[in-house]
Amino acid sequence: MDISIRKKLDILKDLELRARALEPTEDQINHWNQEVFGYGTEFVHSLERRKAFEEWKGESLDFPAIPAKGRPIEELMEQVSSKVDHFGINPASGGHLGYIPGGGLYPSALGDYLAAVSNRYSGVFYANPAATRMENSLLEWFAEIFGYPKNCGGNLSSGGSIANLIAITTARDAKGIKGEKIARSVVYLTEQVHHCIHKALRIAGLSETIWRNVPLNEAYEMDVIALGKMLAEDKEKGRIPFLIVGSAGTTDTGAVDPFDALADLAERFGCWFHVDGAYGGAFALVEKAKAKFAGIERSDSLVIDPHKGLFIAYGLGVVLIKDIQAMQDAHYYQANYMRDAKVKGMQGVSPADLSPELTKHFRGMRLWMSLQLFGVEAFQAALEEKMYLCQYFYERIKGMGFEVGPFPSLSVCIYRWVEQGQDNDAINNALMKAVNEDGVTFISSTLIEGEVWLRLAVVSFRTHLWHVDHLIDILQKALKKALK
Ligand SMILES: *Cc1c(COP(=O)(O)O)cnc(C)c1O
Repeated sequence: MDISIRKKLDILKDLELRARALEPTEDQINHWNQEVFGYGTEFVHSLERRKAFEEWKGESLDFPAIPAKGRPIEELMEQVSSKVDHFGINPASGGHLGYIPGGGLYPSALGDYLAAVSNRYSGVFYANPAATRMENSLLEWFAEIFGYPKNCGGNLSSGGSIANLIAITTARDAKGIKGEKIARSVVYLTEQVHHCIHKALRIAGLSETIWRNVPLNEAYEMDVIALGKMLAEDKEKGRIPFLIVGSAGTTDTGAVDPFDALADLAERFGCWFHVDGAYGGAFALVEKAKAKFAGIERSDSLVIDPHKGLFIAYGLGVVLIKDIQAMQDAHYYQANYMRDAKVKGMQGVSPADLSPELTKHFRGMRLWMSLQLFGVEAFQAALEEKMYLCQYFYERIKGMGFEVGPFPSLSVCIYRWVEQGQDNDAINNALMKAVNEDGVTFISSTLIEGEVWLRLAVVSFRTHLWHVDHLIDILQKALKKALK
């Protein structure tokens, strides 16, 4: 029994009326904007009073059920304010000195707004030539900073983990590591590389390659002599030296590996040379840190996380790969339904051809807005300030009698209290607990050779001298208590 066209038109009219609820009126938009932007403005301006950490003590985290008909925005903002923006770590706080913070520059929120409101698609050049060009020009900006050729490949990813995965997948295919070769191929890294490298190797089907933990020197950098010996021995035994992974700022201690020496060895043994600069890469913008990055331009691929060192809100990583053809060969796709997207004489490559993603967030807009509105000098000043703050902390804490790790290369350092004949792990755990209970600042710890060390990571653009002084003050008080 077919419904008549007439009947269908009646149904359509009714459905349209109800479906139009998804398009708010201008008044409704203005009202929502007021609520959301009002909240955002207040949030940013109250950050100095807000804690960096608020422990969740079992309060309800139940959200109201998804309703059949919508709720007023006031009810939603109340949920955001009392729950989401309440418990746990506050990544926007300048007091966040744990893990690797970043902050979240305000214009990145505006960039996201613009990207979402027009829903422009930056995955394929044909779909939006200018959006694609904007993303590619940002990649060219990074390429210039790191001495990569202008015609290198690159992609804006959701973060460092995916950026590293793209690089490792490309390395795998470029070096033809498949089939029986996998078990004979060797990856050289250190125990200080970020765990997302191991994860990426596994996801890329390379878990059966041989992983060599190259020893570290006293500054927690890769020991080049040891690496050279490992490479020579592997080659002699008929294995395939495949990949060397260096770090531009390790997460634990901020160590920067000696890139020139690593590049020499990679060349000599035909390895792919990858650098993970997710945390530290952005410091290449700082004149006084530049010397540490010498040789990074000789790497085959490089990762930087703008949501760390460039303070963008979470959700932005960068991968650069010198050989764009290799990058495309590893990620290119073809599908019948994409046939219209092929454009001759494209002046920009399509991000979708260089990454696992097809439909994606137009994430270049958030970085573009931030860089254009502030200009590079503000970023340089903020990054240099972070380096000095870390050095200042390092010297103050050393003066107080703390044991310290190596002098900070960038803006991360490790330290701990050592008391003869006492349970030092317990003392340092207690210090961390005291800091995080106070909550004005937040710190994290790590294990180095099985022992607890406290970390300081100054990476948020909102971190200034008073945060570091406050942390020192709390540590001093907590230490007195712990040693009683
Ligand atoms: C944070 C970090 C990563 C992982 O990046 P995500 O953006 O968290 O996915 C990789 N390497 C280093 C050195 C990092 O600090």
